[in-house]
Amino acid sequence: MNRLLKLPSRLGPRALCHATLPGLAIALVLALLLPTPTRAFAVFGDTLDLGQRDFRIWNNFTDPEANDNLALDPDFPGAQGAALAIWKGVAEWGSAPHGTGTTDPSQPVIGSGASNFDAFFSGYSEGPGNRNANVLSMIEGSSFIKAYTEIPIRDGWRIRFYEDPWVWNDGPDTLLLGGSKALDLQGVATHEYGHALGLDHSSDPTATMFASSANGAIDFRSIEADDIAGIQFLYGVRSPSKALITGYTLVSGGQVLIEGRGFAATDNEVWFTHRAKITGPDGDPVRVTGVPSTQGGSRILVTLPDDVGPGDIAVRRPGIRPEDLSNAYPFDPRRDALSPPQSYGQGKLTSIGTTPTLTALTLPSATAGTFRLELRDALGSFGLLLESENRAATPFQGGTLYLAAPLRRVQPVSIQFGLASIDVDAPADLIGRSRYYQVWFHDPGDPLGSGLSNGVRVTFLP
Ligand SMILES: [Zn+2]
Repeated sequence: MNRLLKLPSRLGPRALCHATLPGLAIALVLALLLPTPTRAFAVFGDTLDLGQRDFRIWNNFTDPEANDNLALDPDFPGAQGAALAIWKGVAEWGSAPHGTGTTDPSQPVIGSGASNFDAFFSGYSEGPGNRNANVLSMIEGSSFIKAYTEIPIRDGWRIRFYEDPWVWNDGPDTLLLGGSKALDLQGVATHEYGHALGLDHSSDPTATMFASSANGAIDFRSIEADDIAGIQFLYGVRSPSKALITGYTLVSGGQVLIEGRGFAATDNEVWFTHRAKITGPDGDPVRVTGVPSTQGGSRILVTLPDDVGPGDIAVRRPGIRPEDLSNAYPFDPRRDALSPPQSYGQGKLTSIGTTPTLTALTLPSATAGTFRLELRDALGSFGLLLESENRAATPFQGGTLYLAAPLRRVQPVSIQFGLASIDVDAPADLIGRSRYYQVWFHDPGDPLGSGLSNGVRVTFLP
């Protein structure tokens, strides 16, 4: 069943092509000739070890249709046009949804492999790299094949997409421009990267690793049951113990807090995407080594290196098993860092004409365990600290309630000479989250007996 089409001789036997004949015709022929296969996928016999999971993109595509999608996608930070389409194609093979996995309008989820395998977007290249540099790019010239992958893969690979006669479309729309020469870059990238990770052509005509697809079609964007069986054969079904990143928070001061599970207690590596284009054969990510985790392997706090750009983050445990590398999680170092506490609104004028004010005196740090609020210019001796997950501005007892329902009574507040110092818990499970606070107090001279401070928003730091 191998090679439905002859390869151009100059590619030689070490390149696997993606053919151009209409998929339907091939499918019909196969349906007639082949018995129902129990296992349709095929493999080269090689896999990518954890040192070859990186990939780079050289965006040298010349078709305007290849770079006309300028919409930014939060699951693929910073990428546009051809780069976004290629990244999506590679990410489809990932162990878990890439970020939310749901931002592509043409398929329900990106990240469908459910195997111990994740590719890592290491950044942009300034050229095609050598045959082991793990770079995807366009190659000048014309060919009846659409694209090819240079193998063997063990020491790396290279993927090229032929410039002509094709009209490469970057999607994500489903209607491709270019008539009979229209090709879907995202779908072809998905297929070619399947070769790079070790899959040969499948005999299942519904598989993305089938040797051909119809021009103008987008059906290769998603991998199918046979493709999933193939990647799971090579890398194993995703282990429950595989490291997993579920989110991150940028902390002012240049640190990033990574949340997830399955991180090692010590000696993790954290991978980042290069900010600058990189040349040469080595596409290794920016690495920070020797990083410990806390909270039972669910949190990692690491200082962000200077040369990191938007892309992915990953955590690699010590070890060489496929599950020792986490999923690749979309990461944008330009996202807003956690901000310091902020007062908002205005307290209700007291019966003696003062304006009670609530401010945060210290940062809400989980390491410290508590933080301190201060109330000034209040009255009476007794108050209550109130908390909410959201802010509001609702008329309340002659003043304004700056917290949205439901409210939580945190603790009583003892006021002396109009002043109160309030120590509040800063639990670790609130790191990265915000809470809103306000003090109600008893104002003996007020017609309603009620005093109210302004509101304070705090975001909990590690
Ligand atoms: Zn192929």
